[in-house]
Amino acid sequence: MQSLFDQVCSETSGDMDPEAFRHYGHLIVDWIAGYLSDIRSYPVLSQSTPGSICQALPRQAPVQPEAMETILADFGRVLLPGITHWNSAGFMGYFGLTGSGPSILAEMLDASLNVTRMLWRTSPAATELEQVTLDWLRQMLGLPEPLFGMLHHNSAILTALAAAREALNLQIRQRGMAGRREVARLRVYASQEAHSSVEKAMIALGLGLEGLCKIKTDQEFRLDVEALEEAINEDLARGWRPCAVVATVGTTSTTSIDPVPQIAALCQRYKLWLHVDAAYAGVAAIVPSKRWVLAGCEQADSLTVNPHKWLFTSFGCSVLFTRRPEIVKETFSLTPAYLQNADRAPDLMDYDLFLPHRIPALKLWMVMRYFGQEGLAARIEEHCRLARLLALWVDNTPDMERLAPVNLSVVCFRIHPPGIDDELTLELLNERVMNRVNAAGHFFLSHSKIRGKFILRIAIGNIRTTERDVRGIWEAILAARQAEVCLLRTNRAGNQFGIKRKINLP
Ligand SMILES: *Cc1c(COP(=O)(O)O)cnc(C)c1O
Repeated sequence: MQSLFDQVCSETSGDMDPEAFRHYGHLIVDWIAGYLSDIRSYPVLSQSTPGSICQALPRQAPVQPEAMETILADFGRVLLPGITHWNSAGFMGYFGLTGSGPSILAEMLDASLNVTRMLWRTSPAATELEQVTLDWLRQMLGLPEPLFGMLHHNSAILTALAAAREALNLQIRQRGMAGRREVARLRVYASQEAHSSVEKAMIALGLGLEGLCKIKTDQEFRLDVEALEEAINEDLARGWRPCAVVATVGTTSTTSIDPVPQIAALCQRYKLWLHVDAAYAGVAAIVPSKRWVLAGCEQADSLTVNPHKWLFTSFGCSVLFTRRPEIVKETFSLTPAYLQNADRAPDLMDYDLFLPHRIPALKLWMVMRYFGQEGLAARIEEHCRLARLLALWVDNTPDMERLAPVNLSVVCFRIHPPGIDDELTLELLNERVMNRVNAAGHFFLSHSKIRGKFILRIAIGNIRTTERDVRGIWEAILAARQAEVCLLRTNRAGNQFGIKRKINLP
């Protein structure tokens, strides 16, 4: 009898046979092409109930090989209904974003090569393509040289703040912080509207949530620079050691843009590391008339821009630019004996907490070449136009209220019928309108809270979203509003709209 080992090794390889690969590869590419062209026919928000996908999958791991047909059939039958279609033209929640055609194709190639770029020699093209592509991006964004860029899977705020901490020369990398009387508690500053990843980085770096000082914002949700300077001085007086400021260009709730030039001047005066989080909004600087969004960022020590947000590149493509790569390297460089080498070339693993895997620059390179600077700018500009159009509709509708300036492609508003001013009622009404629109499946929008007010938030940013889709979601909101306001007025006389407990849609 043949052993399992002989069975596997008697084939040409242990992997899928090349002809089978070609066959299923074509099937999958055909499916993807159809998926992308029929994307509007999928319910944007998955209608699964919790646990339903788990239940539909076998609890036992597969013992015998299974046919690709069966596996692909389960992909369609079990998994697809559990997918929220971020790639849909109707997806306008959180941030609209896209895995575009060239990006998907690049991912296939990247997966086929499956390299790590930890060392230059483990794939010289991976390291060098990244350097060139990110320098193209730097030029497109109008940022001055020299600027070292590296791609990360997520926004690399942890890397940035670790470098900021190392720049204090307290030898924390070597000696840690705990139990050292000569090391004051470190403070990082960011606005109240900064992304939660800043807080997560504080947790991970042992700086603690208390180490983050949240600075109030002005009427347009921008960091208040005077309050920042006051906070720094107060901290100095009380024995804290100010370390870094995180400015946000395009906050997650309202896309407000902190006054980076003034913040940069302050950072220079107090010798603080300035990190700019431009995860979503940074790429807008590709549009010549929007270049102002990155004003002052040339002075930042580090800067995050996410092509996987609004540059039509699939997830796993966030850039950390820095003017001080030597500090990042001092923070993280650690080479075990088996990775030491004499190549006179940069090893990207020296600039990251993790060993950098795959070639994320490949998809960015293909996207940038396929659309070109002009094509990218035109698409971003069109999204901004659609947002302005939507804002105009909101402004011209009597019981709608817009709650933030439309800086780029996000519109924040709420339904506010005359005579209803109770915040809890307004929240419930808006939430129910949002849920009703999302349940219908054609569109998806999300919410946020600003200054205690529940807002509806429409983010335009998918490459396939057109004026027709924006009009569609607007009409869906109007219809849902009609239904919910009607319900509210009838219920109100009776039980005050069931405010005490959240009532479910009948
Ligand atoms: C989306 C976003 C992030 C998080 O980005 P990831 O790449 O998902 O980690 C951080 N900051 C801001 C301002 C964002 O909008």
